[in-house]
Amino acid sequence: MSTQKTAIVTGAARGIGAAVAKRLADDGLAVAVLDLDADACADTVKAITDAGGKAIAVGADVADEASVNAAVEKVVAELGKPTVVVNNAGITRDNLLFKMTVDDWDAVMAVHLRGAFNVTKAAQKYMVEAEWGRIVNLSSTSALGNRGQVNYSAAKAGMQGFTKTLAIELGRFGVTANAIAPGFIETEMTAATAERVGVPFEDFKRAAASQIPVNRVGVPEDIAHTASFFISEGAGFVSGQVVYVAGGPKD
Ligand code: NAP
Repeated sequence: MSTQKTAIVTGAARGIGAAVAKRLADDGLAVAVLDLDADACADTVKAITDAGGKAIAVGADVADEASVNAAVEKVVAELGKPTVVVNNAGITRDNLLFKMTVDDWDAVMAVHLRGAFNVTKAAQKYMVEAEWGRIVNLSSTSALGNRGQVNYSAAKAGMQGFTKTLAIELGRFGVTANAIAPGFIETEMTAATAERVGVPFEDFKRAAASQIPVNRVGVPEDIAHTASFFISEGAGFVSGQVVYVAGGPKD
C-alpha cells in the first residue's frame, strides 16, 4: 500500500496556490490541484508531473458545498484520501465601505470563509481516520485592516479564528491547523489591484518594496516554503498559529 500522502490545494491554477501545489509535490505528496475550472489547472499539473510528481486537476467552486463534496470524492478515488488541505482560493472585491455592494461583501465571504469551511469539513474525516492531518489556511496582512477591503480584511481575520478553532477541535486526532498571512506577493491578484488604482505594476511593486524591511515584494515560493514547513512531519507541535510572511514584522 502506498504511503504517499495526498494534499488538496485550492485556487491552485495560478499564483500562490500553484507554487504551493508544486512545492508539496516536491515534498513527496500527491496533489489535487483544485480550481474553479479544471482546464485552468493543466499548467500546474503538467509542471508537477514533468518533475516526476503526482497530481490531478479538479474543477470545483469552493463556495459550493455539493461541488466541494464531489471534488473530494474524486480526489479519494483518483489520488487517495486527503490528509493535507491548503485553503488558498481567494478573490478580492475591493471598494470603500460606502461604495461596496452586498454582493461584493457576500462573494468574498463565500469564497474565503464558506470555501475553507466546505473543503476542511469534507476532508477532515480522512484526517481523523488517519489520526494525522495538516490544515493550512491563507490569511493576509489585510486581516489587520486595509483601506478599501472591509470585506476581504474581515474574511482574512475570520480565517485566523477559523484556524485556531480547528486547532483546538482537531488536535486530539493528530491534526494541526495553521494560517499564513502573506504581505505583498507578486501575483495576478496584486497585478489586478495595481490596475484598479491605475499604477503600472512595476511602479506598484517598487512602491510596495520600499515599505518592506527586506526591501522586496514577496513571491509565491515564499508562501510555498512556509506551507511546506507547516505540513511537515516535524511541525506536529505547531498548531493554531498565524505566521505573517511579509518581509518584516506585523502585529
Ligand atoms: P490569484 O492569483 O488571484 O489566484 C487565486 C486562485 O483562486 C485563482 O486561480 C482563482 O480562480 C481561484 N479561485 C477563486 N475563486 C474560487 C472558487 N470559488 N473556487 C475555487 N477556486 C477559486 O490569487 P493569489 O494572489 O495567488 O492569492 C492566493 C491566496 O493568498 C488568496 O487567498 C489570497 O487572498 C491570499 N493572499 C494573497 C496575497 C497577495 O499579495 N497576492 C496577499 C495576502 C493573501 P479564477 O482565476 O478562476 O478566479
